Amino acid sequence: MAPTTGDATRVQVRSHPDCLLHRPTLGHPEAPVRLEAVLRALEPGPHQPPASGWSLDRQAPLPPEDDILGVIHWLHTPELVDRVRQAALAPPGFVDGQDCVVSAGSFRAAMAAAGLAAQAALDMVNQRLHRCFLALRPPSHHAEADRARGYCFFNSVALAAELITRAWNLPVLIADFDAHHGNGTQAMFYDRADVAYLSVHQYPTFPGTGAGDEIGTGAGRGTTRNIPLAAGADDEIIATAFENGLAELGSRIRPAVILVSAGFDAHHDDPLAQMQVTEAGFRRMTRAVVQAAAAWSDGRILSVLEGGFAPESLARSVRAHVEELAIDETSRIPAASTARDEPNDSRDAHALELENLDELEN
Ligand SMILES: [Zn+2]
Repeated sequence: MAPTTGDATRVQVRSHPDCLLHRPTLGHPEAPVRLEAVLRALEPGPHQPPASGWSLDRQAPLPPEDDILGVIHWLHTPELVDRVRQAALAPPGFVDGQDCVVSAGSFRAAMAAAGLAAQAALDMVNQRLHRCFLALRPPSHHAEADRARGYCFFNSVALAAELITRAWNLPVLIADFDAHHGNGTQAMFYDRADVAYLSVHQYPTFPGTGAGDEIGTGAGRGTTRNIPLAAGADDEIIATAFENGLAELGSRIRPAVILVSAGFDAHHDDPLAQMQVTEAGFRRMTRAVVQAAAAWSDGRILSVLEGGFAPESLARSVRAHVEELAIDETSRIPAASTARDEPNDSRDAHALELENLDELEN
């Protein structure tokens, strides 16, 4: 099975034009201009050296719509999917709350976001992708199984985690440094031992969850780790908390892949949170992810864009994040074109397709 790309870049940045079709009403913070600024910042310009550490695909392939829906239904109710689809047929409107405003293109955008996540996870389990940043919207982590919330319709990062654990039957870890707690992601995996969730976030604030004593339940007890931080937390406070949480949870579950809910609204310029983080803080947290991935997941990282609502600060922060993802500190990270040749690994002898995974239940 040939890899999807022959280039030797370490990080694949993927996006899709459909992600721009979700156009909430004027003045809504989760606007297409966010993603446009991010993509501009990741494009090598005439005055900067070629971005040899990453490639940017603005129109990455998506799975067929039926396959995307199949994956969404692993974690979301059909009723939620129908509500989003129906609302987009009669715009403007909203789904489940006035923060989830819907335009004519919102369903397609939400499907593209879920599709990018599913395809990246599939490419990762088939050893065609080693390190990836998904520049997508709408974001993921507030979407619950049966409810859109906090600008999120489908939980793309959770869908990717679910796909990887189904395919490999190995644990994964979702590390979330968005300024808000990922209530949806936590709820989906709260009783599961195979998907760990770490979050550093401002607290108390929206969505209200994420207290330190929310640690999981049943088989999942101890696989959720929340580190709530007071408003005003700076680089040192948030990065130290994140590094400690990652070391603790990572050593406990030894994830096969580290997924990142990469939200940048803890930036001091951001209008929706009251944190004081700079690009240097996001670099430091990204470095912690890279080091954790070198220790436990053979360097595999799948990072997904979440919040960040001051477009230019968001763009600079994402650029810093991707630059750090592209740094190979251990020289152990194989290039995309050779990732399938890793020793002692026969997992891609038969490439998995989405329909195979439908038969595997967790
Ligand atoms: Zn947020």
